Amino acid sequence: ALVVRHRMRMSNQCVKPDDILKELEEKCATPSSKLKQIADAMTVEMHAGLASEGGSKLKMLVSYVDNLPTGDEQGVYYALDLGGTNFRVLRVQLAGKSGIEFQEFAEVSIPPQLMVGTSEALFDYIAAELAKFVAGESEKFRLPPGRQRELGFTFSFPVLQLSIDSGTLIRWTKGFSIGEMVGKDVVAELTKAMERQGVDMRVSALVNDTVGTLAGGRYDNKDVFIAVILGTGSNAAYVERAQAIPKWHGPHPKSGEMVINMEWGNFRSSHLPLTEYDNTLDAESLNPGEQIFEKMISGMYLGEIVRRVLYRMANEAALFGDTVPPKLKTQFILRTPEMSAMHHDTSPDLKVVGNILQDVLEIPNTTLSTRKIVVEVCNVIATRGARLAAAGILGILKKTGRDTVKDNDIPKTVIAMDGGLYEHYKEYRHCVNNTLNELVGDELAKHIKLIHSEDGSGIGAALLAASHSQYI
Ligand code: BGC
Ligand code: MG
Repeated sequence: ALVVRHRMRMSNQCVKPDDILKELEEKCATPSSKLKQIADAMTVEMHAGLASEGGSKLKMLVSYVDNLPTGDEQGVYYALDLGGTNFRVLRVQLAGKSGIEFQEFAEVSIPPQLMVGTSEALFDYIAAELAKFVAGESEKFRLPPGRQRELGFTFSFPVLQLSIDSGTLIRWTKGFSIGEMVGKDVVAELTKAMERQGVDMRVSALVNDTVGTLAGGRYDNKDVFIAVILGTGSNAAYVERAQAIPKWHGPHPKSGEMVINMEWGNFRSSHLPLTEYDNTLDAESLNPGEQIFEKMISGMYLGEIVRRVLYRMANEAALFGDTVPPKLKTQFILRTPEMSAMHHDTSPDLKVVGNILQDVLEIPNTTLSTRKIVVEVCNVIATRGARLAAAGILGILKKTGRDTVKDNDIPKTVIAMDGGLYEHYKEYRHCVNNTLNELVGDELAKHIKLIHSEDGSGIGAALLAASHSQYI
């Protein structure tokens, strides 16, 4: 009955876009007090996920990385980075303390049909690109005769690792959905495809992009303990004490530490400010009921949430005139880069907003007041996402005891950040940074630093391939 009343009220002629906007602002509000509750809930789930396999929505996956790069790594290694809209192959020459001597890479976008096709087709495509890349190898990268090329494979989905160089896919996320792959060893699949494509290469490390970013970040800065990806999807990894992982029954690592891939995208809590837009987006997604946190904060979804709000404003409050613009009905038509461009429009007449509404949604002649509403919707959705991401980071700081100033020489915590959303969406990035400062307070904020780790995940995977080489 409630639902019916709600619809009737909203179909009333008198509903104005501003009313819907105001309601949105209220529902998406993230005051510090709420963010702190969310951080606490994150901490609780982290404990539960570490206690037992399946103990929490947070998988808290053991990465088998118990040593991060030291800077002594040497030799030529490859990396393959798969997980978003593009995949990259790279080759690096590591020269011990003198760092990275040389690196080169190729980036290829993944044809969308391959994301939802067969595993053979996807892996053959990747292996074929890898074959081309290897074929173009220059003289200075030649390995000594008899030595096999080695690869760090960054696979940015939840994987249950069986060792550093094997692991089975738990489920797909983001735009990927290839049912037959779930439960299979992704390294075995890649290896078979490499054989089919005639690439002689061994996968010596299988890593999540967060783990790769942590490794790449640590190589540059010894204070890096946490890595966060804010891109198409979202996730975090951090260095945990081995003793704080009750579910781990493997050998006790010499370092006493283990990198944990949280898979925080699947976090959910009753404290999350979920709206009807989130609920319908989730219900109509490739993975309903899963990755709820990710669906509120990451690049694949922010533009789509905005589209849903605009659709309702058009439908119930005639935001764009008497009829609903047909394009506005298409899922994922408004992408986050366009949302970002609208959000950053500083021209007095909001020209960029007007152009995007015209070009992408085919809505001509919008008025300035309409454009202002659109910008405000972008602002509300980006702000909520960025503030929630900051709350997630606070959760990790709390779990690892890095959230209080205990004495003057508390450890410094550097957080390696990567992903297209963080990199390109300036307002979002600033909001993550500012919110984290707001949450931890001025004193502690001096000890915490977020750095953008440019392509850390690929280099990190190559570094881990080096430290897990079959030749050492
Ligand atoms: C995946 C994670 C990944 C993140 C960022 C999520 O959808 O589940 O494994 O780290 O995206 O790429
Ligand atoms: Mg990436």
